[in-house]
Amino acid sequence: MKIQSSSPKFQVMSLRGVKRRSNPLKLQEIASAPPRNDTLFITFVLLYFLLLVFYFVSPVFAIDTAEAKEPHVLKTIVIDAGHGGDDTGAIGPTGIKEKDIVLAVAKKLKDRLSKKFNAHIVLTREDDTFIPLEERTKIANENKADLFISIHTNAAFRKGANGVETYFLSFDASDEDARRVAAFENRVADLDGKSQIKDTDNLKAILMDMTQTEYLNESSQIAEIIQNNLSTELGGENRGVKQAPFFVLMGTAMPAVLVEIGFITNPQDEKRLASNEIQDMIANSLLKSIAGFEEVLKIKVGYAK
Ligand SMILES: [Zn+2]
Repeated sequence: MKIQSSSPKFQVMSLRGVKRRSNPLKLQEIASAPPRNDTLFITFVLLYFLLLVFYFVSPVFAIDTAEAKEPHVLKTIVIDAGHGGDDTGAIGPTGIKEKDIVLAVAKKLKDRLSKKFNAHIVLTREDDTFIPLEERTKIANENKADLFISIHTNAAFRKGANGVETYFLSFDASDEDARRVAAFENRVADLDGKSQIKDTDNLKAILMDMTQTEYLNESSQIAEIIQNNLSTELGGENRGVKQAPFFVLMGTAMPAVLVEIGFITNPQDEKRLASNEIQDMIANSLLKSIAGFEEVLKIKVGYAK
């Protein structure tokens, strides 16, 4: 390239070159270097930009491809941490409250589902707030949830009572224990002035009109999966899948279950349930069960492998 350019840039370079004089070749190098460097620089920027585009766009294509092969059946999942605010739920021998344990587990589950499950995850409460039972059901229905899981800890007068039990809805409780558990969890409704359930006639009226009927079969399936996984992983007595008239499950227009993750009234289990390690274990187990349930649903709707 010629250096007689009239541009100020080249004039400065020329002057520098003239000052040195000693090496005219160097002058030529200085003058011709910038365009070569510019070309290289532009090439590198373009390459870098292309790499960036590839980096961000490729996962999108990957997800699209995966979804095209295996559409997600569970698009929205609502996780309900029982109780909250003035409603503490059951209280353990050392004063640990059910509302705190179930919120911690619900948050861990949401975290895991958000990371590993391509679905919209909603918590009925994110903090220590009292949410009426009917409001929880409403949140699930308004979000058009494909699955509703209510998390609780159990309570019993017998200190040694232990183990997991998973419920789905029915008017008739499957046994005396189930009736007692539902009565305890429904008691919450009395804390909210609007949703008082005083007698079984009211329950019956609601159940007559319940939307949940359509989903009972699927609710029983997810209940079985949760019960088997959680009971195996946590140990203790496998108390099985049960049915009872839980207010929070009534009117839910999707598969809906309530899981009692252990007895907070059992001194050993109170300690275990409050530990980070066991809460992680429960969240992992529920994640696994939800994934298992989705496989069941996929087979049902014809996406079977
Ligand atoms: Zn509870």
